[in-house]
Amino acid sequence: MKDYWQNYIDGAWVDGGAGRVDIINPGTGETLAQQALADEADIDRAVQAARRVHLSGVLTDMRPVERGRMVQAMGRYLLDNRDAVAELLTLEQGKPLWEAQKEIDGAARYFEYYGNQAETLEGRSIPLGAGYFDFTHYEPYGVSAQIIPWNFPLEMTSRSLSAGLATGNACVIKTPELTPLSQYIFCEAAEAVGFPAGAVNIMCGWGHQAGAALSGHPDINQVVFTGSVKTGIAIATAAAQNVVPCVLELGGKSAAIVHDDADLDAFERDIRFGIFTNAGQVCSAMSRVLVHESRHDEVIDRAVKIARSVSVGPGIERTEAGPTMGPMVSEAQRDRAAGMVADAEGQGATVATGGRKMNIPGAFLEPTVLSNVTPDMTIAQEEVFGPVLSVMPFRDEAQAIEIANGTQYGLVGGVFTRDLDRATRAARALRAGQIFVNEWFAGGVETPFGGYGRSGYGREKGREALLNYVQTKNVAIRTRA
Ligand code: NAD
Repeated sequence: MKDYWQNYIDGAWVDGGAGRVDIINPGTGETLAQQALADEADIDRAVQAARRVHLSGVLTDMRPVERGRMVQAMGRYLLDNRDAVAELLTLEQGKPLWEAQKEIDGAARYFEYYGNQAETLEGRSIPLGAGYFDFTHYEPYGVSAQIIPWNFPLEMTSRSLSAGLATGNACVIKTPELTPLSQYIFCEAAEAVGFPAGAVNIMCGWGHQAGAALSGHPDINQVVFTGSVKTGIAIATAAAQNVVPCVLELGGKSAAIVHDDADLDAFERDIRFGIFTNAGQVCSAMSRVLVHESRHDEVIDRAVKIARSVSVGPGIERTEAGPTMGPMVSEAQRDRAAGMVADAEGQGATVATGGRKMNIPGAFLEPTVLSNVTPDMTIAQEEVFGPVLSVMPFRDEAQAIEIANGTQYGLVGGVFTRDLDRATRAARALRAGQIFVNEWFAGGVETPFGGYGRSGYGREKGREALLNYVQTKNVAIRTRA
């Protein structure tokens, strides 16, 4: 483990104008290493480097298949370094080692998918009658600014970087202050596959300083952000000053509707992965379960059983896939989640299991299940971003939909039933960008993902996402009659 990690601007590893920050291992509470912090001048240099690359035409003039091959090769580079990167990710972020390995696989998959898509973005020809030939084509925006959260730092960077490069943009990435170390792999990968200096710039910095400087920079052409609603609003406001489009992915309070005919044996797996993956720090986590009143007690019992079966401890010791959980990303996030559980109790919820900070070093919170939650409680309305499941009963289908739709969010939703009519009715009625039927997290890199309401706008993943990174140009040609 190196004890100091630099930023990467215009093809060079550099110190940061804002000094350094200690990176803490949330599994032990100890300092892992230091990371350079970019200031406004560093951000400006990175944006100018990216802009130079864009204006040079080196990315845009390339035949798309060649760009696509380079993007794919970046994914293979990640896989070639899977073990080292996964270990680093676990140490800085906390997740079990096997989850970190899965994250590398997921990260590489974005490069595979968008590398493949590079040559599929085609324009169309529009008939204008005799004497004209008209066609459209897609051009990259130019400089893509990408601001990354700490929960899945490698997958989130891969998601936007792969699509940004595949479409011919030069990218400037602001990594999260809590988990910046493993991002080094993207800089190495970009260099190894032959992207020119300045095409990929990756730096850490404070959100209010480097993040704000990047999202408000007059020479960026597009912004992609994943994180909190508050920061999303700040970024969209800054971008609006420069008339720059945004993609915002801002989290959720997503609900699974469990009907009386649901297969509860299968649903146990959804509880396990829906809320305890990555210690619940997942924007599309299954943080609410709405269950028909006839099965309510049974679901509580099963959720408590699952929560108690999860082995919690330092992620680095959790190498095998299974019911394991690491710490949360930081003590501050853990304390915030524990505080929300205590407030919920104060408002009348019952802690069926868990709810306490664990009495070991590190940022651990017990896997938690809450019952007697009502839809108006803060815990039922606001994102905890931790391993905390709220279970609520419903009387009938209409009430279930009303509760599910009754928050400011709308990222994903789920319905569990053997009745296809019920499932399709729910899929239509739920106000969310992605609906799961009988399996939470069903889908993949191929399926478009993004929110309704305060969960944000624009779509990541799938073909849709490519359109975030390009603009349409129409060419009308007057021909001889
Ligand atoms: P955040 O939204 O503040 O941070 C995410 C990223 O935005 C970081 O890289 C940060 O440096 C940057 N940032 C912060 N302020 C900025 C600004 N003014 N301008 C530009 N960039 C800025 O999230 P957080 O404080 O790390 O976590 C708080 C809460 O956000 C969590 O508890 C959770 O509810 C939510 N969150 C959601 C996701 C998600 O995937 N949807 C991810 C992380 C956090």
